[in-house]
Amino acid sequence: MKITKVETFLVHWGDVSRPAEAAFGAATAVVAVHAGGLVGLGEASPMQGGVASLQVIARDMAPALIGADALDHAVILDRLLHKLIKLGPDGIVTGALAAIDIALWDLKGKAFRQPIYKLLGGAWRTRIPFYASIGRNDTRDVDGVVKTVEARLKAEQPSAIKIRWDGARGEIDRDIAGDIAKAKAVRRLVGDGYPLAFDANNRYSIGAAIRVGRALEELGYVWFEEPVEYYHPKAMGEVAQRLDITVSAGEQSYTLQSVAALIESGVRMVQPDIVKMGGVTGLMQCAALCHAHGVEFVPHQTQPSIGNAANLHVLATHMRATRPAELADGWSRCADTFVNAPKPDGGCLVVPDGPGLGLVVDEAMLARRRVDLKG
Ligand code: CA
Repeated sequence: MKITKVETFLVHWGDVSRPAEAAFGAATAVVAVHAGGLVGLGEASPMQGGVASLQVIARDMAPALIGADALDHAVILDRLLHKLIKLGPDGIVTGALAAIDIALWDLKGKAFRQPIYKLLGGAWRTRIPFYASIGRNDTRDVDGVVKTVEARLKAEQPSAIKIRWDGARGEIDRDIAGDIAKAKAVRRLVGDGYPLAFDANNRYSIGAAIRVGRALEELGYVWFEEPVEYYHPKAMGEVAQRLDITVSAGEQSYTLQSVAALIESGVRMVQPDIVKMGGVTGLMQCAALCHAHGVEFVPHQTQPSIGNAANLHVLATHMRATRPAELADGWSRCADTFVNAPKPDGGCLVVPDGPGLGLVVDEAMLARRRVDLKG
């Protein structure tokens, strides 16, 4: 099954009549790999619109892919990683490889006429509980946070909720009392017992993280995500070991080795992201690593279509699913293009069961949303 063509393009999320508005960060970065008369779709990490990863695919990876057998999937990916390793194994190159990996799995599934989860060994479940991941709470006051959470609860009926802070990078410990007040107000809204998670987005020093973590324990939150800078795995591990609440991290890890470093430091819930961490293959490797260490494997996921579907195929195969799948803000964008993209259904997301990713694409809408990169 020789690869004949590799396309890279953005699918913009805005008004289809104005494709020029496809700004950085407002689009899905897509790779389409053609082989045997079939097309496999993959998605790269969306950081800065994913443009850099698409450029690396087009310039440095596509020439090596053309003519290769798509079923030599793992060899192709390892060869490309080591060819480009001097560009850095974390970031642009790994995000690009994640996209190609997802596209090759989509292609293989279509070739064998099976959903990806079947090729991975079968599904423990195809209805997967999800949590609503609600961002930008840094910019809201307590009332604004409560109203936003209330609206998502009503609209989506999630199995759990995570409140994220986002906010300015580099600024830490800005409003600890205010953050705790928001966490309290959300607990009051949903009542005791409803699963809540708190995502600090790397905003605390170790001391502040311990203080916020203690408050979250009192409030019955179930996990505390990325309390300190992700690039300090020892600090993350220290917070994890000093608190009773489960501390999680890993969405900014791009390699199995960096996930291993988090586990070695003391983190006991790991959150690799399929569009950064090696695609389907990378997440399966992470799942094995977590299983070997008795650590929870709970992937991070913010993308509306290809990334979400790929992530669900992996989760379907994971025996010990301890937490719901992430469904981030804006999940419905491009629903006119990926017409059966998983959406909330009684607290769950249903894994598509068609061949490959199982995504049905409206080609006319895709053409309207497609933006090709220049140069
Ligand atoms: Ca996060």
